[in-house]
Amino acid sequence: MKKRRICSFCNQNFEVKINTKIEQKFCKDQCRNDFHSYGRKYVSMLIETGQIDFTTIKQEVDKTI
Ligand SMILES: [Zn+2]
Repeated sequence: MKKRRICSFCNQNFEVKINTKIEQKFCKDQCRNDFHSYGRKYVSMLIETGQIDFTTIKQEVDKTI
């Protein structure tokens, strides 16, 4: 029983490991790290350019926890 999906970072097709509790979204650790790194950079850009403020980000994130 093998499941395949598309990596959220590099869009490559990969085989999902079924013995993990967390849903696997990335084909390898490097992709997961790069994904979060890009996310952080993008958020920093939005804050620096005044498109979003950190208070808003925190409020939205806190809602989901
Ligand atoms: Zn990948």
